Amino acid sequence: MNRVIGYLLMMFLLVGVNSAYAAGGVVKDPAGVAPDRYVYYPGTEALQEDEIRVVVCGSGMPAARHGQAATCFLVETGNGDKFLFDIGTGSMANVAALMIPYQYLDKIFLTHLHTDHMGDIDAIWAGGWTAGRPNALRVWGPSGMRPDMGTKWAMDKFLEHANWDFVTRKFQISPVPGNIETTEFNYKGENQVVYEENGVTIRSWPAIHTGDGPVSYALYYKGMKIVIGGDTFPNKWFVKYAKDADLLIHEAFMGPELFVKLYNQPPQLAWRACCAFHTSGQAFGKVMSELKPRMAVAYHFFNEEATRYSLYDNIRETYDGPLSLTTDLMVYNITKDKVTERMAVATHEAWAVPGTGRQPGPQPGQPPVFSKAIVDGRLDNIVQPAQKQMLDEFMEKYNLQDQDWRKQMKK
Ligand SMILES: [Zn+2]
Ligand SMILES: [Zn+2]
Repeated sequence: MNRVIGYLLMMFLLVGVNSAYAAGGVVKDPAGVAPDRYVYYPGTEALQEDEIRVVVCGSGMPAARHGQAATCFLVETGNGDKFLFDIGTGSMANVAALMIPYQYLDKIFLTHLHTDHMGDIDAIWAGGWTAGRPNALRVWGPSGMRPDMGTKWAMDKFLEHANWDFVTRKFQISPVPGNIETTEFNYKGENQVVYEENGVTIRSWPAIHTGDGPVSYALYYKGMKIVIGGDTFPNKWFVKYAKDADLLIHEAFMGPELFVKLYNQPPQLAWRACCAFHTSGQAFGKVMSELKPRMAVAYHFFNEEATRYSLYDNIRETYDGPLSLTTDLMVYNITKDKVTERMAVATHEAWAVPGTGRQPGPQPGQPPVFSKAIVDGRLDNIVQPAQKQMLDEFMEKYNLQDQDWRKQMKK
């Protein structure tokens, strides 16, 4: 009997040692570092040619919270391409913390036009514009039942609503980065190719959510497949076209009781939200049991002590395969051999990192954005002498002596 206990104890210790080793590795040298990282430090790991990295930049809900932004997944492929799938409210703070030059963050694929999936389009549009993106944004997204329910309408109207920003920034900075090139495709297209460049193919198929229009995407690269479900009730297209995924991202909602208790929703809405136009944990599990991905990824819930065990239990009622419950800045590396999950350790105080591209300056001949009455209110006679020495040095350093501020001083 004692031998059995001793054996079990030994096995327990071995397993313990093994799992610790797998997680981080042994530090053998007091001056050394852990051989395998527990965490991902943005900007420190080059992707292999045959590798994909997916960073969760938003995994939460429409209601804002510090800990989790609304939906956004960054997919990086080994050829250097980067794709943002959705850009929900608050998510750009996470994207920016990865310190990727804005010039590479110019391809956005929208699953649908709920603001928790596109609310930070303004942050990437204007933030990238001021931080040196030399090129226009490119946005792909589905059509709708009517022209005013499609992605093209949404992006055109976004620029219209931001017209003051657009016009004045164009005047002061550079016009090109303020443009949005929208590619709208038929939301009913089944497994249609919506993007094909540099060895990356992206396909779409219809999703079923709160009305016609939403889609799911699959990205194919070097024989690997990443599926981004967007918001959807389980549907026939998903189980048909999301097969053989290496990483299968699908929404999973908390049970209705938690929506009543924690989210202040009336019961008549709570059950529909979780289980009629979204996907419950049990339903998520059914989909995953059918598709058997290398890694099932659940998102679209606030991941915290009050919720995660209940959602986990709900999913485990119907699925026992590999499972990952997301929170923001979770990172997946995908190769043919393995799928790993880590957390990114990112700074809260990231600055934009320069790329190789340079913005052209303001275009001459832009229509005026100031009237004489407003310009005449400037206190140049007081301000310019005060900042003269500082600016003179700057202008000399960067060879800008002919710039406009001097003319204003001479008035
Ligand atoms: Zn939605
Ligand atoms: Zn959503």
